[in-house]
Amino acid sequence: MREPAAAFIGIGSNLEQPLTQVRTAVSTLGALPETRLDGVSAWYRSKPVGPVGQPDYINGVARIITTLSPLGLLAELQTIEDRQGRRRQLKWGPRTLDLDILLYGDCLLNEETLTVPHPRLAERNFVLLPLADIAPDLVLPGGTPLSSLLANCPSGGIVRLSDGE
Ligand code: ATP
Ligand code: CA
Ligand code: CA
Repeated sequence: MREPAAAFIGIGSNLEQPLTQVRTAVSTLGALPETRLDGVSAWYRSKPVGPVGQPDYINGVARIITTLSPLGLLAELQTIEDRQGRRRQLKWGPRTLDLDILLYGDCLLNEETLTVPHPRLAERNFVLLPLADIAPDLVLPGGTPLSSLLANCPSGGIVRLSDGE
């Protein structure tokens, strides 16, 4: 078996009761094989990226400890998305659930179906702010501190919901 790795999962939803969707996703993540849940950020309400006219998103980040491989983890995340009614239609279109692997330990991966760290992480405040809730001192595999990504990222279009809201 592999050594356990800490992975950060970006969670988003903007359809069919997004807060319920993201909370359900967190419990399901904690129940994955070879995996335990090790932290969850606050939830944020953010403006959509991509096609206009879709509802605002609820976003957050969970930290898990897992011995699943990166590709094994991706397959599990896609199964959870499917079970929560994800339909793969428009690029960046509205969805009941989106689960992205943001980081997987210190791995740098460039597979056909999986790039880690997530390639658009640095430009997304709805990823960086919740990451900072659970890992403020995080340093990315290339050596860049999360704090400097946050300092260089646009800050608008996002509201932190009070914990437990
Ligand atoms: P974005 O990647 O910009 O956040 P998205 O989440 O809307 O966009 P999806 O339609 O959910 O994109 O996923 C498209 C494909 O991205 C997936 O089928 C998966 O193979 C691939 N992918 C590559 N890297 C990752 C990653 N780090 N986490 C999740 N999926 C990834
Ligand atoms: Ca995404
Ligand atoms: Ca995705």
